[in-house]
Amino acid sequence: KQPSRELRILILGLDNAGKTTVLRVLASEQDEIKNTTPTQGFNVKSVHSQGFKLNIWDIGGQRTIRPYWKHYFEGTDVLIFVVDSADMMRMDETGEELSELLQEHKLAGVPLLVFANKQDLDLAMPPDEIAEKFQLTSLTDRRWQIQPCSALRGEGIQEGMDWMAKNVS
Ligand code: GDP
Repeated sequence: KQPSRELRILILGLDNAGKTTVLRVLASEQDEIKNTTPTQGFNVKSVHSQGFKLNIWDIGGQRTIRPYWKHYFEGTDVLIFVVDSADMMRMDETGEELSELLQEHKLAGVPLLVFANKQDLDLAMPPDEIAEKFQLTSLTDRRWQIQPCSALRGEGIQEGMDWMAKNVS
């Protein structure tokens, strides 16, 4: 059996967006998962999915930690950005953070998977509206996808990973 290709995945988003819950869903789909204990709000999980070994870097999303995001950009194969679709109060802030990420040189051309999370909530903004608000439709320098999901219910995550597997270079 061929060893699976390793991918470096960065999972970002504001605090409370659901990053940890997404990771938990990914991890629950298989037996073994390695968890490096968080130092100052980041941890790396290795999960096997779609014939890949995914090394997923989960960095804290709190405002004070966001300046450190850039130290983890180098060598990223796929960027996953998790949005709390029901957090209207912080939708602008979320869009600004994403937009700044998309301007980073070290992330140029890296495929973007946006999880429009918490779609189980009545107030959740639909994915097409989020895509429009974040101006994803005008992105021409990378592949992108917005995937509605409920990490809490485990819905939509696998579909996102399917897209990722097909679109990683
Ligand atoms: P993180 O700070 O981005 O890692 O966010 P967490 O994964 O810790 O989730 C923050 C809160 O949102 C927790 O209370 C989760 O249970 C909740 N949460 C995460 N995903 C969902 C979802 O799909 N639906 C709902 N309703 N709550 C969610």
